[in-house]
Amino acid sequence: MAKIAILDRKCIGCGVCASSCPFGAIDMKEGRPELNAGCRVCGVCVRACPEQAILRLETRTESVDKSQWRDILVFAEVSGGRLHPVSLELIGKGLELAKNVNFQVKAILMGHQVAPYAQELLHYGVSQVAVYDDPELAYFRADAYAACAEDYIKFAKPSVVLVGATALGRSLAPRLSTRFHTGLTADCTRLELRENTDLVQIRPAFGGNIMAQIVTTNTRPQFATVRYKIMNAPARREAAEGEILPRKLPKAVQTCRASCVSVTPVPPGESISDAEVLVVGGRGLQKEGDLKLIQDLAQALGGDWATTRPLVEKGWSTNDRQIGLSGRTVRPRLIITCGVSGAIQFTACMNASDHIVAINTDPAAPIFDVAHVAIVGDLYEIIPQLMKQLKEGQA
Ligand SMILES: Cc1cc2nc3c(=O)[nH]c(=O)nc-3n(C[C@H](O)[C@H](O)[C@H](O)COP(=O)(O)OP(=O)(O)OC[C@H]3O[C@@H](n4cnc5c(N)ncnc54)[C@H](O)[C@@H]3O)c2cc1C
Repeated sequence: MAKIAILDRKCIGCGVCASSCPFGAIDMKEGRPELNAGCRVCGVCVRACPEQAILRLETRTESVDKSQWRDILVFAEVSGGRLHPVSLELIGKGLELAKNVNFQVKAILMGHQVAPYAQELLHYGVSQVAVYDDPELAYFRADAYAACAEDYIKFAKPSVVLVGATALGRSLAPRLSTRFHTGLTADCTRLELRENTDLVQIRPAFGGNIMAQIVTTNTRPQFATVRYKIMNAPARREAAEGEILPRKLPKAVQTCRASCVSVTPVPPGESISDAEVLVVGGRGLQKEGDLKLIQDLAQALGGDWATTRPLVEKGWSTNDRQIGLSGRTVRPRLIITCGVSGAIQFTACMNASDHIVAINTDPAAPIFDVAHVAIVGDLYEIIPQLMKQLKEGQA
């Protein structure tokens, strides 16, 4: 690990370091520079100091006292006027992990007028919901949200912090892990907690060819992001348990550099991650117009359609309709794949679906390893037959 050291005997208090720091991490106090939590140890101040009074030191890693860091903290995301369902899924996983080591699961919530969401979270088994409620937090600003989360983490000292791998979570989590000089594993597909409270963070690596197990052994907290639809949300309990802890806005929010000028809401649209029924087209489709077969079948089943990555690369479809490691994770009740081979980068993000039906001409296609119903045949023959039977059934 590296750290920045300021040599008092050499420093003349000129303030060049403070004005050159790209992260606003140096405060001038009584004419002397002082580092704050925003320091990324980038070394810009070391090069800028005219007196060579700042050094970048490599330090030996010392293990943190793990017993001082307890409990699991879930970042409860409120965006677009709703509590993102991934937050409940993370609470569900947190409760499962917490059992083994006698931890509690807590949540942190930020925004403006978020009291109803805090109340709702108490129905899912969390022991505490820390709330930062202020007009300054009405819209996501990474630095403001990070300042609040940092404030609570310093206060509560959680061992594990779980964040949804949403656009917002992906912006927040790395900022936080850098502030605490600790590890973050993105897009975990499985989580386990050892007796010594080390979190085993499991995720596909090297293009999905191996499942890596990543452990943060010497530092706390341990940050992990998890995609929507990977974990199970707990059932809502009738009784609300636990406490709501209102927290004061930390001063750092006032000095945040980003401000919200205007907001353009994304038009409401269904995400394939929310679909209950999905029909997926792969490279077995011969031309762009043939996607109509997939769309028609999806419509007949009252579902949505999606594709594999090669179809996005051809420009036939868009990334928000792509299933896979570089697309979306889905977990519908029914998924029908048509002309999809079943590469690991695809199956890793749909294999938890309730019912998987695969249509492929190749009996050895790997998609059949995850399918519950395997149809070996030509999609150009099978889809019209399915459509015919659906129409007859409806009639
Ligand atoms: C880092 C990385 C990330 C990736 N991320 C993703 C991702 O997010 N999503 C993704 O999808 N891929 C991803 N890929 C690509 C992935 O490895 C595969 O190349 C891709 O999933 C294959 O798509 P496919 O099944 O449509 O095509 P193919 O592998 O070409 O399979 C086509 C299948 O169609 C069958 N077929 C052909 N004609 C017919 C017919 N008439 N009727 C029925 N079946 C027929 C064939 O037998 C074949 O099995 C990623 C790759 C890497 C390296």
